[in-house]
Amino acid sequence: SPLTTDSKILIVGAGTWGCSTALHLGRRGYKHVTVLDPYPVPSPISAGTDLNKILELGSFAGDDADERYVSNKLLEAATEGWRNDPVFKPHFHETGCILAATSNEARRHMNTRDGPSEAGGWIPLRTKEDFQATMPKGVLTGEFPGWEGWWMQKGAGWVHARKSMESAAREAARLGVKFITGDQIGRVSSLIYDSTDIRGAITADGTYHYADRTILSAGASAAALFDMKDQLRPTAWTLAHIKMTPEEAKLYKNLPVLFNIERGFFMEPDEDNHELKMCDEHPGYCNWISDAAAPDAGQISSPFAKHQIPIESEARCREFLRETMPHLADRPFSFARICWCADTPNRAFLISKHPDYASLVLGVGGSGHGFCHIPAIGGFIVDAMEDKLDEKLKQSFRWRPETARGRDWKDLQGRFGPQGANRVMDFQDIKQWTNIGEDQE
Ligand code: FAD
Repeated sequence: SPLTTDSKILIVGAGTWGCSTALHLGRRGYKHVTVLDPYPVPSPISAGTDLNKILELGSFAGDDADERYVSNKLLEAATEGWRNDPVFKPHFHETGCILAATSNEARRHMNTRDGPSEAGGWIPLRTKEDFQATMPKGVLTGEFPGWEGWWMQKGAGWVHARKSMESAAREAARLGVKFITGDQIGRVSSLIYDSTDIRGAITADGTYHYADRTILSAGASAAALFDMKDQLRPTAWTLAHIKMTPEEAKLYKNLPVLFNIERGFFMEPDEDNHELKMCDEHPGYCNWISDAAAPDAGQISSPFAKHQIPIESEARCREFLRETMPHLADRPFSFARICWCADTPNRAFLISKHPDYASLVLGVGGSGHGFCHIPAIGGFIVDAMEDKLDEKLKQSFRWRPETARGRDWKDLQGRFGPQGANRVMDFQDIKQWTNIGEDQE
């Protein structure tokens, strides 16, 4: 049926991209929009339910001119939203960013990555004193062994993730979007197929939600709901918090993001609970199991929720702290979790109508850099639904199973880790996890 603002639109997944899509549909005047999710916003399994995320720096596209165009287009639209949209503006902290690397290989990658240069306004960091001087005295007390990097003081920084997602959902609801959330009533168990198209989705309570257009934005879980032809690799990363004192929180206010592309990153502690979040950096964990529904089809990486991280990941976090802030290296974690995203083969987003099912729109493939686009990504997803995407974006975001045929599931996808973790790891091999909150009374 022709698309009008009276069409029924169903969004599967109220995470980062689902909330953004709901907001943009509301703003474009769509009157019958429903979002389904097993959890109310912020879903504990959404990659966006997090204290903070980095606002993307540079391109993931290497030297390809069209991909660079796409990267810049996305970043411009996102930055415009962070700077000017009242829904997102309060959650943007333009504190600058430090990019660093240790090994020769990672340094080379950093320096070619459409990258930091003095001409582009970056300040080179070569010694431990250079690094220490980027933050107030007493923050970076480490030796920075072998580190080399760049510092950008403006135009980059971090965003409060959970609050941005909540803000988008709140505004979407105010504009009339309906959120149906709950383990039974919101969890999609299957899409509704007829012989030629997708007609909506069925939830775990057995309800059929018929729709004129169905937008799939279930993040790492999307591949379990629709055959993505190997274009998505559900992959998890690890994060941990440490609790800071009020005095420390004051000292740590307005810090630039510190990101070593093979060690990890942190941002200033959150203003509400003074928790400092960090991630150890590595090419990710998959969870390879046999697909019960298709035992002959080989293994699939199947996401699961866990509020612990592998002990080896804790050790990497502590090593990262020892190099940068050794005074915090032994402080207990107050929180940790694994966080799932999904990589396309080239880490470009997949935002497209499906070539065979005209009413299905895909908004997936965040590929580890999809959060900071929350102000604008929903607009691109709605553009795809309305056939209004710019040609170059359309080409980049297209349904592209040919690029995933015979996919190398162990491909590092442009990421690095420290020795021993410079590879895609498998949760099936992990025997020991942290026990935060379990026996610490
Ligand atoms: P999600 O936000 O994960 O949303 C998926 C939603 O689908 C969830 O709400 C879930 O509850 C719902 N769902 C699941 N199953 C079902 C079902 N059966 N029915 C209905 N709904 C369902 N990006 C950045 O830009 N900067 C960063 O610094 C950054 N850091 C990151 C750090 C970590 C540790 C991780 C894991 C990711 C990071 N990312 C970052 C990537 C970014 O978080 C993701 O790309 C982005 O959040 C993906 O959004 P999404 O909407 O696709 O998925």
